[in-house]
Amino acid sequence: MILKSILIWVLVLVALPVEAVPPTPVAVSREYLMGTFAEVRVYDGDEVGARQAIEAALAEMRALDRLMAVQRSDSDVSRLNREAARGPVRVDPRVVQVLARSVEVSRATAGAFDVTVLPVVRAWGFTDGHPHPPGPGPIPRIAGWRSLRIDADAGTVAFTDAAAQVDLGGIGKGYALDRARDVLRGRGVRSAWLDLGGNIATLGAPPGGGPWRIAVRHPRHDGDRLGVVAMGEASVSTSSDAEQYTMEDGKRRGHIIDPRSGRPADALVSATVVAASATTADALSTAAVVLGQARAREALAHAGADGLLVAPAPDGSLRLHATAGLDFHADNAVVAAMNDTRRPR
Ligand code: AMP
Ligand code: MG
Repeated sequence: MILKSILIWVLVLVALPVEAVPPTPVAVSREYLMGTFAEVRVYDGDEVGARQAIEAALAEMRALDRLMAVQRSDSDVSRLNREAARGPVRVDPRVVQVLARSVEVSRATAGAFDVTVLPVVRAWGFTDGHPHPPGPGPIPRIAGWRSLRIDADAGTVAFTDAAAQVDLGGIGKGYALDRARDVLRGRGVRSAWLDLGGNIATLGAPPGGGPWRIAVRHPRHDGDRLGVVAMGEASVSTSSDAEQYTMEDGKRRGHIIDPRSGRPADALVSATVVAASATTADALSTAAVVLGQARAREALAHAGADGLLVAPAPDGSLRLHATAGLDFHADNAVVAAMNDTRRPR
């Protein structure tokens, strides 16, 4: 009898809605950046100092946007794409650093993460915001991450393949968040929340202590959420086919490309990754969609990261997989419906 009532209480507690909106910040600013919205909230210190720190963090993100955007012909990345096949090109040290991290993640994910997929991303119209299936004809060739020659000491990058074209869309937001968080920290901020297009980085703990609570959206049902991730100072990034996609033969095709096939990846519907580094969380969430559930888990474990993976089942239903270290509070009704294979979808 006692056991039964304890069980009921546990269920009631778990089912309670979790407050996902953090308390009021000392200062907050929002700005359109990197093709999406950036929001920085500072929760400690005086208002003037908080405002200055936020402005400095946003300035760093703006600078990175100018360096990395493939849509800008004067960005360092566009310069590489025009000139690096002819020999080493000197670029900003931050571009060298993010490319070096990209190559590390490529190696760690057996090439699932590959910044040289740009020709295919372009062929599908994902870089100009008007996605469409490519016309008939051969799939553009992907040169592969091994064709990048990075000389960190010299501050240069060269491509060994004339077809190499790089795109930091899968890692750049995370890198910008890491840099912006460092800027805040350098100015003495001890509690902050940064959001760049749904990639989140936190600094310290929220006011009053306890964890930050981050809602994870349902990749198929607008307005629904899968649940809430609780975490300390960390970073969380979600990749999915829910934001940028087009339809082909009645099937959804998302903006993450499987470098092996040169086609949109469909091994996962969405992947949410929690890691200390926002760069790692961003790159691994993109890679996870290519890797699929089992291999994504291995890559996360290897990187010391956690994740929430939504996989398509053969019958069209969705399955939710959380790694053991993730502090995830599911919205029970949503998740039960999702993992119920009897429900047609
Ligand atoms: P994200 O939203 O972080 O998952 O990044 C998706 C973006 O990363 C796409 O719009 C492309 O610009 C780029 N991308 C697509 N496929 C890959 C891949 N396999 N590896 C690295 N970047 C990719
Ligand atoms: Mg990413």
